[in-house]
Amino acid sequence: MEPLISLIKKWTYTHNPHYSFRNRLGLAITSTILIFSLLLSWIVGLTAEIQIKADSGKFMEQLAYQMATSLADGMFVYYQQIQILASLDEMRDLNSSAASQRMLLEKLQQAYTDYAWIGLTNPNGIVCVSTGGILENKNVSERPWFSESKRHPSVQDVHGAKLLSKLLPNPKFNGEPLRFVDVASPVFDFQGNLVGVLGAHLYWQWAANLRDNLLQPLQVYRQVEVLILSNKGEVLLAPPLAEDKVKANNMDFNSSAFKLNRLKSVEAAQQNQRGFYVELWPDGELYLTGYAKSKSYRNYPGLGWIVLVRQSAKQAFAAARSLQQTILIWGTLIGLVSSIFAWCAAGRVVNPVLKIADVANRIREGEANLQIPIFSGVDEVSKLSKAVAQLFAQYEQQKSLLLSFNHKLEQKVQARTVKLDQVNQKLQQEINERKQAELKLQQLNEELLRLTMLDGLTGIANRRRFDEYLMQEWQRSAREQFPISLIMIDVDYFKRYNDFYGHQAGDLCLQQIAQTLSNDVKRSTDLVARYGGEEFAVILPNTSLQGATCIANSIRQSIKNLQIPHAESQVSQYVSLSVGVMSVVPVPSSSPNLLIQTADNLLYQAKQQGRDRIVSKSF
Ligand code: GH3
Ligand code: MG
Ligand code: MG
Repeated sequence: MEPLISLIKKWTYTHNPHYSFRNRLGLAITSTILIFSLLLSWIVGLTAEIQIKADSGKFMEQLAYQMATSLADGMFVYYQQIQILASLDEMRDLNSSAASQRMLLEKLQQAYTDYAWIGLTNPNGIVCVSTGGILENKNVSERPWFSESKRHPSVQDVHGAKLLSKLLPNPKFNGEPLRFVDVASPVFDFQGNLVGVLGAHLYWQWAANLRDNLLQPLQVYRQVEVLILSNKGEVLLAPPLAEDKVKANNMDFNSSAFKLNRLKSVEAAQQNQRGFYVELWPDGELYLTGYAKSKSYRNYPGLGWIVLVRQSAKQAFAAARSLQQTILIWGTLIGLVSSIFAWCAAGRVVNPVLKIADVANRIREGEANLQIPIFSGVDEVSKLSKAVAQLFAQYEQQKSLLLSFNHKLEQKVQARTVKLDQVNQKLQQEINERKQAELKLQQLNEELLRLTMLDGLTGIANRRRFDEYLMQEWQRSAREQFPISLIMIDVDYFKRYNDFYGHQAGDLCLQQIAQTLSNDVKRSTDLVARYGGEEFAVILPNTSLQGATCIANSIRQSIKNLQIPHAESQVSQYVSLSVGVMSVVPVPSSSPNLLIQTADNLLYQAKQQGRDRIVSKSF
């Protein structure tokens, strides 16, 4: 089941006109052919139907006309015969025997069996002789045929005759009352005096025979019906109406309700026209009706009978309908067959395009060694195939151009990248070199700074550093109101040391003293500096006089402990120091000079007091 459904789905997808140009084209051609063939069939069928209807109508009209003419011809013959008979000497001569006259009449009747009765009256309307002796000596002066024929011949329309019917030997009628048509002619003697009227009753059955004769060759049209109407529209001759119709309408042709004089065909015939109509009859059915009127013929004046020939429209046009159906069926069949051809043709048109599209797609998807198929010829498909092939060739060319261009570009980029790398490396090298140079410079600067800040001989802070640091700490102490102490140190009798031990030994001694001073000062904020010559100074921020004196003592003791011999000293055998210690809480915005001066003074006082001692003071 599943594969069937998927197969149907696939089929409907591939055959959906929305996705298939071929199907769309096929459908368009198919529907066009079908519509045109159906339209053509319909038109041909319609034309044929109109033609057949016209032909059938014409045929009906022709039949009616033929019937009307035959009636008129027949009547003319009888009319003529009676006149000829009336002009015979035998009839005109009053002395003629009745027997011979009767013989003449009966001869005529025998020759023409449609004569029901022929009789000769005297001028008063008494029948003198007649065929079969019927009605002889009877007065017929009241009968129209007698009264109207005293001067000239006349014809009398169809009528019944009860008396005659009873008297006639072998009445031929199918249960219907006999009806007659009369022809009569005056009989004049040789002087031109009226001697009687010769009258004849013709069986109306004669008309029925005429009709049957007319219809006989048309057995195939046996459902063609012929009606004869009087000029006023009364039915004179009609076929028996089918029983079901009589039942359905509760009437027949002869009933008063069956009003034929309302038919268009009757109205037209009354106006001496002939033709045909498709019209609804009182029996409720549609009939193709041909109509004509019987007219006068030579000296026969005519009774103006109307002949209607009708055929049920259904039957009349059956041929047309079946023809139309046949044409429609054939049209549809031809349309369908043409559609199959059209669909195949659509395939032939579309297949090359599909092939081109398929190959183009495969090329686009990257399949190699494919060529757009080129179709020979000069039509659109050929042009399309060539154009697409050219397009793809251009595309390939441009692609390879682009590839080679890309390759070159890549090579260029690579070369540039290598160059750039080299430049970068150089630059990096330069940067490194510069960094190193900068480092060196910094080191040199630092060295320079250090050199500017340090004393060359002893390696401790020099006078300049001392001044800066003192100013800085002086201000901080003034801000924070901490005490700051300054120790001023001078080596005793050092001129003499130099003189005695040499200048180099002096330098060495100074270095030893500087080293020892540095070792004695522990706090990082304390600064030992060479103040000048053989004088040293120690700055002790946040240190009271007591603390400073303590440090001064330890310094003096440390130097003493060095036991540097000094033979020329007047106060000790070793190198000794005189120290001035000063401590103060600085007044803001004051100068440290006073501190220096005071410490210097105290140092001077220590010298004065005999050297190798400390003199301290605080404010
Ligand atoms: P006083 O006890 O009064 O201080 O006597 P003094 O000789 O130490 O004092 P004076 O100021 O007269 O002499 C200082 C001597 O210090 C002079 C100089 O020869 C010596 N001197 C100064 N600077 C240096 C130096 O850098 N190296 C050496 N070797 N000697 C120096
Ligand atoms: Mg000195
Ligand atoms: Mg000295």
